[in-house]
Amino acid sequence: MNPAGFQQFTRPEKLFGLFARLTVLPGVGDKVAGLLKKRMGNHVIDLLRHLPAGVIDRTQRPSVATIEDGAIVTMEVTVMAHDKPPPGSRRPWRVMTEASSGPIEIVYFHAKGDYVEKLLPTGSVRIISGRAERFNNKVQMVHPDHVVSPEKASTLPRHEPVYPLTAGLTPRVLARAMGAALEKTPDLPEWIRGDVIDRFNWPSWKDATVSAHQPVKPYDLLPGSPPRARLAYDELLANQLALGLVRTTTSRDQGRVFKGKGDLRQSLITTLPFSLTKAQERVIAEIEADQASPHRMLRLVQGDVGSGKTLVALVAMLGVVETGAQAALLAPTEILARQHHATLTQLLEPLGLKPGLLLGKMKAAEKNATLEGLADGSISIVVGTHALLTDGVSFHDLGLGVVDEQHRFGVRQRLVLGDKGNGVDVLVMTATPIPRTLAMTAYGDLQSSRIDEKPPGRKPVKTTFVDLERCDEVVDRLRQAIASGRQAYWICPLVDESDSLDIAAAEERHTMLTAAIPEAFPALVHGRMDADSRDQAMEQFRSGTARLLVATTVVEVGVDVPAASIMIIEHSERFGLAQMHQLRGRVGRGSDPSSCLLLYKGPLSETAAARLTIMRESNDGFRIAEEDLKLRGPGEVLGRRQSGDPEFALADLAYHADLLELAREQVMETLENNPGLTGEEGEKLRLLLALFERDRAVTYLAGG
Ligand code: ADP
Ligand code: MG
Repeated sequence: MNPAGFQQFTRPEKLFGLFARLTVLPGVGDKVAGLLKKRMGNHVIDLLRHLPAGVIDRTQRPSVATIEDGAIVTMEVTVMAHDKPPPGSRRPWRVMTEASSGPIEIVYFHAKGDYVEKLLPTGSVRIISGRAERFNNKVQMVHPDHVVSPEKASTLPRHEPVYPLTAGLTPRVLARAMGAALEKTPDLPEWIRGDVIDRFNWPSWKDATVSAHQPVKPYDLLPGSPPRARLAYDELLANQLALGLVRTTTSRDQGRVFKGKGDLRQSLITTLPFSLTKAQERVIAEIEADQASPHRMLRLVQGDVGSGKTLVALVAMLGVVETGAQAALLAPTEILARQHHATLTQLLEPLGLKPGLLLGKMKAAEKNATLEGLADGSISIVVGTHALLTDGVSFHDLGLGVVDEQHRFGVRQRLVLGDKGNGVDVLVMTATPIPRTLAMTAYGDLQSSRIDEKPPGRKPVKTTFVDLERCDEVVDRLRQAIASGRQAYWICPLVDESDSLDIAAAEERHTMLTAAIPEAFPALVHGRMDADSRDQAMEQFRSGTARLLVATTVVEVGVDVPAASIMIIEHSERFGLAQMHQLRGRVGRGSDPSSCLLLYKGPLSETAAARLTIMRESNDGFRIAEEDLKLRGPGEVLGRRQSGDPEFALADLAYHADLLELAREQVMETLENNPGLTGEEGEKLRLLLALFERDRAVTYLAGG
């Protein structure tokens, strides 16, 4: 059950220093530790993972005449005179100095006592380093970063890392703590395969850590520089190894062979008014092969919006039902659960099957009926939300769990689902195309299938973008379109993280559109509505009474109203590409030519313009997702990284995708030959897991 024996895992002694609390570092008291913790974490190792975002070169010693405004310079000067402000004055303290090539004035604001006089005694020689300013032909330096006497010149750093800071934390404090942390950095045995190290000429873990914190030139800050690449690889290797171990554990769990007669599947397919696409047939065959094997299935089905995943899921569920077991379909929202339930009810009717429904908020009698049906096995297929995962739900014999729109569920939920039965197969369906690289970090070597073809007759959605300033024209055109019998979605802006503002924006837009186009009877849905009013609004739109649906992003996933052919997304510059693609996928489902209008608030940044252009030019979800990943990365080459992959501190998937691939290979090979992580190699890899605290994840997962 537990191949690597991780239950007994204790942190290797070699790592004790790295996992010491930050307060062991000089200059780090509770207050500073508190600030550091907010930004990075509690331990010395967390500090070490906080890499510089810039580098200051203090080797530049130009002549005064050639100093450029804003340049960081280091100068040897003689202190000539002080212009000390009288007590109580707000005037700055000025110090007149002479370098060999000309005068430099040093300026201090709010200087206290005789601090400046002591630092720069009149007549003394000092080396100063900091940002120079030039105006009126005078050169000034406000608050030099460093002031040292010539004897101490060697203490002046030649190159200084610049860290992203937290408010309240000064560079000096951070530099001191970092210096001490680097001194504590131990030598660790090499866990990366020799040929990989050789191929990239990577430094050891310790050297890489130290070098990454001591950049000399801008190149050293790039993700591809050897120290950074090595550290990224370590992180990816730990990630892949942890996932690989989980996978070994779960696939060794007793799986079951599900091999039905095929009668239910056959009748379903013959009652459909269309035939399956080649891609649907292929993916169904892949799933059936998994079901028939004695291993537990863990398969990801990726298919662009409208590719027909629901049907694939239903066929898989029927395969299990044919053997007498049960199947559950888990949806991320109540709206979607209800919709799936309605779809399945219709599809299953000719087969004489009635799917159950389980939601968090349901009438007690209805809920109890479902719970009883699941427990005694009279309900063979159930659709539900998270409610299906709660303790009170028990199945007679669950054989398959299908998770729709996986990005809203975590690994944990998936495992809980697996625990609701014996040898439960899990199928994960996602319409958000997950780039291969991301899928690999989330699932390791989870099997995956792609429905890479859409049902015939779908026309691409014509996409345009328009400045929000022209909103009136847009409303006029919308009025005409509605008069000609079309139906439209109007998606309201993502204001920020806060739900309530989003809702306010939607309500306001709904009021405005109701006034502007009353004949459209605009309906409104948002996330905070109670289920009844939401269903009512959706039903009005579905039936065509409402010609316009104003919504927050709750319609993002899965809503299927084939008659709707216009999608308007307001403040599109705030949406992620994948999310916009999802929304756009709500139209183009019927026979009408469809259009998508991206309203933006100008002026657009270069990246925002590039993103909207991709939307206009591509209807291919996979391409859009890959581009999104690329665009989100390079925008921030030397600066703060975006929170694109919060799971990683050192790796950046936009750059390190090939390293991920390599890490995966190393892991597969290792687990093949040494699944128990024994011997010297195993010990090193366990050290790596411990370094990235994946050992605990593994313990937890393996323990189930
Ligand atoms: P997805 O969940 O992948 O976005 P759905 O499963 O909701 O897509 O399917 C979208 C629509 O396409 C549904 O109305 C469904 O009935 C229809 N559909 C599914 N498969 C086919 C097919 N092979 N041919 C024609 N229409 C199909
Ligand atoms: Mg769907």
